[in-house]
Amino acid sequence: MKNWNLILVVGLLLTACRSTQPSIRMDLQDDAALEQFSWENMKPIEENLLPEAQPILAEMESAPYYLLDFELDPLLKSVKGTVVVRYTNTSQDALPYLVFQLFPVVYGGTVSLGEVKVNDQTVSIELADEGRLVHVVLAQPLQAGESIVVSLPFESSIPREMGGNYGLYGYFDEILVLDGFYPLLAVYDQGEWQTNISSPNGDIKYEEMSLYTVMAELPLGLKVITTGQVTTETRNTKTQILTIAAGPVREFYLAASEGFVSKERIWQGITLRSTGLQGSEEAIDFALDVSEEAVKSYSTRFGPYPYTELDVISTPMQALGMEYPGVSTIATGLYDLSGTIQGTSNWVMLDSVIAHEIGHQWFFNLVGNDQVEEPWLDEALTQYIVKLYFEDTYGESAAQSYADSWEARWSRVNYAETPIGLPSYEYDPQSYGSIVYGRGPLFVEALETTMGKEAFAKAMKTYFETYEWQIATGKEFKQSMETSCGCNLTSIFDQWVNE
Ligand SMILES: [Zn+2]
Repeated sequence: MKNWNLILVVGLLLTACRSTQPSIRMDLQDDAALEQFSWENMKPIEENLLPEAQPILAEMESAPYYLLDFELDPLLKSVKGTVVVRYTNTSQDALPYLVFQLFPVVYGGTVSLGEVKVNDQTVSIELADEGRLVHVVLAQPLQAGESIVVSLPFESSIPREMGGNYGLYGYFDEILVLDGFYPLLAVYDQGEWQTNISSPNGDIKYEEMSLYTVMAELPLGLKVITTGQVTTETRNTKTQILTIAAGPVREFYLAASEGFVSKERIWQGITLRSTGLQGSEEAIDFALDVSEEAVKSYSTRFGPYPYTELDVISTPMQALGMEYPGVSTIATGLYDLSGTIQGTSNWVMLDSVIAHEIGHQWFFNLVGNDQVEEPWLDEALTQYIVKLYFEDTYGESAAQSYADSWEARWSRVNYAETPIGLPSYEYDPQSYGSIVYGRGPLFVEALETTMGKEAFAKAMKTYFETYEWQIATGKEFKQSMETSCGCNLTSIFDQWVNE
């Protein structure tokens, strides 16, 4: 995320379509229909990956596989559906229950659940964390290496007022933003379920790479942008039915509006799509240019963007931007190019915010991390790589003037030497932004100076390649850097990250 406080309003949408096959919604509460589904068949997911990236699916048999079917009510007041997840216990522990997160509750909405089943058998559930979490209690503990299929019918209300975590979920100013609208599995690691979704600062998601087959029925007039690749699209008199393949990705996101217009271009097989409300075409064009340059820069430096599509869309939120797999959302206020934010023109701000959110495709989505416990790992790296984007796109002096913004941020807490490595809930909101987004990239730059520019660039590429499709920790980042340079970096990490 990019959280410079502030911001306003706006809108969205569109779909791509590759096939003339009719879209079909599966009745996921029909056990017999579900039994026909082949969890092992990765072929449909290939649609979301460029050919050279498709072999990764062979390594994803143990990844959570979500079958998600839902419909929006015509007034956009609720989203109702069923999520069925095949989950494999990849830990060494026997698990007596699984934990799903109900993010709409964090965002001021509600979620009601129907009859929850595990392998066709009804099971009991327990709500925790004031209804934000649901424990699905298993008849027998799930042993290491075993798989189960969990089915959760859900209905989530869609708020009309922004109500928590930057207003990332709801229907505002004729734009629908559905962040985490379905029950989403927590990650089990280090002997426990990681569920700190009540954190007051920053991003609250921590997810494993997962596979998605999604079926959605939406009002006909909406233009829809989602994570993944639309594979079929059918239009009825009042609704459109989309099927979408996504994966491996950490979550599924959807935004929609009747007012959206999009521009597209193809770069190296990737459909780049830029979307915003009618009337903001100049910003939409600019966002498309920035997308292309950013994808080019990061693909060259770290490793290729592997998916068939990359979307940038303008949506209402109380932050500057937010990252989702395959989708970057940017605050609508920035699309008014005549405006300024804190003395900086929206042109300049839009450039760096888009480059930042697209940077998260590499550090957040492809290389994952616990965004609550170690927010610096994706945010400081992403802030830092935006400087590389500026260098590649405009040259050294533009890069330096962007990098000056880190120091300006840090100055807001009088250069306090607060560690960058704290969990997000241990910062107050002011120091969260200043330390993680300001002092954080200054640490990465100090690391670059210590290791030498060339060695550091190589080490970052190695780190990305080592942890792509996985989850990394700060400790693993340090080890990876030390292995690359053949040096001991304990003192610089202690000075900036830990102490
Ligand atoms: Zn960010």
